[in-house]
Amino acid sequence: MADTASGQILRDKVAIVTGASSGLGRAVAVALAGKGAKVAMAARRMDRLQEVESVIANSGGVSISVKTDVTQRAEVKELVRHTEKTLGPVDILVNNAGTMYYTLMKNVHEDEWEKTVDVNIKGFNNSIGAVLDGMVKRGKGHIVNMSSDAGRRGYLGLAVYSGTKFYVEGLSQAMRNELIGTGIRVTCIQPGDVTTELFQHTTDTEAKEKYDVHEKTKILEPEDVANAVVYAVSQPGHVGVNEILIEPREAPL
Ligand code: NDP
Repeated sequence: MADTASGQILRDKVAIVTGASSGLGRAVAVALAGKGAKVAMAARRMDRLQEVESVIANSGGVSISVKTDVTQRAEVKELVRHTEKTLGPVDILVNNAGTMYYTLMKNVHEDEWEKTVDVNIKGFNNSIGAVLDGMVKRGKGHIVNMSSDAGRRGYLGLAVYSGTKFYVEGLSQAMRNELIGTGIRVTCIQPGDVTTELFQHTTDTEAKEKYDVHEKTKILEPEDVANAVVYAVSQPGHVGVNEILIEPREAPL
């Protein structure tokens, strides 16, 4: 039962957050646990997950860490199996793990294109594939996909990344409509620039100098985006928050 009086509005809910070892995923995991959800956190860096686990435990929350490479379908299936055995059936998937490289198409950084597709598309699919059947059988569930404002507009220097986020948007729109009548909700969160480690992977200095402006204006904090996720998953059952576009005030779409 949700305990709204104490603010534990997600009490008894089980959530999986992929990419919880840093940035948005970390903030989302802490925020969901703060509202009473039991959270399974997935990523490859266990030391970082365990640090988040301590933060959550120190605030009286419940979480587990599961080492997972989302590009490996079997590992994601095992993440869900272990979560259900340990915490219970999954109510919420925050499909957040992702990567990004500023790069110009003409510079042909094909390895980075491939890594982006592997995590942002294949890993994204693997996560949905591992929870959806159970949600359909239980007649409830909420899939929150971490898209981007780059899922609404192709950004210069981010062509492949934007392409992957258009994929997230297209799949989410179709799936949301396909799942009408099943009790499952699908939300896309579309943040603009947020202070995370996402910007550290770029090797294409030409693209970075031209188009990476994240240090030039006040951008979002991970907690701003976590608040949007909490809003989406806290609405009454008949409400579908289809998408939330959240931008730095000084950098609108
Ligand atoms: P970070 O780099 O801080 O976090 C990325 C997370 O994804 C890490 O926890 C990382 O964990 C995880 N991850 C990457 N590859 C894999 C993998 N193969 N398997 C499992 N986990 C993986 O970036 P953000 O927090 O910013 O990014 C999170 C999401 O938010 C992404 O989908 C991104 O596209 C989206 N986003 C970010 C914005 C921003 O400006 N920061 C704006 C809009 C959207 P580990 O390395 O431990 O595996």
